[in-house]
Amino acid sequence: MSTTAVGVTDIAIRGVSRAFGEFKALRDVDLEVASGELVALLGPSGSGKTTLLRIIAGLEKQDAGSVMIAGQESTGLASRSRDIGFVFQHYALFKHMSVRQNIGFALKMRKTPKARIDARVDELISLFRLDGLTARYPDELSGGQRQRVALARALAFEPRILLLDEPFGALDARVRQELRRWLRRLHDDIGVTTVFVTHDQEEALEVADRVVVMNEGRIEQIGTPEEVFSNPANVFVMKFLGNVNVFHARVEHGKASVGGLAIEAPGSTSDSARAYIRPHEMDIHRAGQHADDIPATVAFVNPVGANVKVELLTDAGDVVFVEITRGSYLELGLERDMAVGLRPRVFNIFDDYSI
Ligand code: ATP
Repeated sequence: MSTTAVGVTDIAIRGVSRAFGEFKALRDVDLEVASGELVALLGPSGSGKTTLLRIIAGLEKQDAGSVMIAGQESTGLASRSRDIGFVFQHYALFKHMSVRQNIGFALKMRKTPKARIDARVDELISLFRLDGLTARYPDELSGGQRQRVALARALAFEPRILLLDEPFGALDARVRQELRRWLRRLHDDIGVTTVFVTHDQEEALEVADRVVVMNEGRIEQIGTPEEVFSNPANVFVMKFLGNVNVFHARVEHGKASVGGLAIEAPGSTSDSARAYIRPHEMDIHRAGQHADDIPATVAFVNPVGANVKVELLTDAGDVVFVEITRGSYLELGLERDMAVGLRPRVFNIFDDYSI
């Protein structure tokens, strides 16, 4: 599976902008998706994800910029001529058609011979584990089953590209998790170039080859899940991808330090440097164990789950969240009001702390 845009480019978006009246929904967006990639568009509500997906689909027109699909300029090309299958949240199944008829619909529209439609539908029914449900109507299916039928229907004519807008948005947490793992496996099997929209960080990081983080109509960062999570380009990406603690960093001789850990920070000054540390990137020590630990007091411990979540108050008055293993928790004998020392194992430094 490719993780970077190498090889054949299936989607090339250059300088795409779109405004609705005065409101700029997309601002000068560039994005390339390689053949066979699974890419997530991730961002908060209103960041422009759906607008970008609809422009790729041909359901919306950009005001500026170009969209190439499989090397062809596609601006002005009708949606049905783009070799794209899509599953949008509001693009419901046809209520009056059975599962079988829903899946075969696009092929029937394309005047495919009946024997070929039957063979393809059988193949999809088995691939999507819909055996036994083929004669049912959409309102006789669970939410998860309906989404599987919608995906099978979108893939029936073997499109070059599959676009999914919050495909699991309306489902409960357990079914959502099951379906996203299943989507990953399915993608590995059939390898269709896929772009999906989500506002759920976990979903994007777990499923995608590459994640495109969007904010206010712009792309903030594009990278593998590991790249965007571990090397966020800016404060927005850092904060959007999970809980984070913020500390003032001391800067001396081009190095920034927090609680005994120093990293290179050329160009930073103590006035502007903030260190961003994820809860699982800090250790808790007994008070006084290291002179340069950050002194703090335990405010709350939640020992439920694989990791223990601890809320602390530093002597400087900052609230800090730390996640440690059960082993460390038991060894330290952590409890409320206990005095401890905090030490980061790693941190990111950003000067643009205004967001
Ligand atoms: P969500 O996760 O809530 O769906 P999104 O990131 O997909 O958000 P878009 O649906 O692309 O965001 O919308 C981006 C912005 O453009 C929003 O503020 C939205 O209100 C606005 N917008 C989208 N479509 C239209 C339209 N047809 N007319 C006016 N404004 C629109």
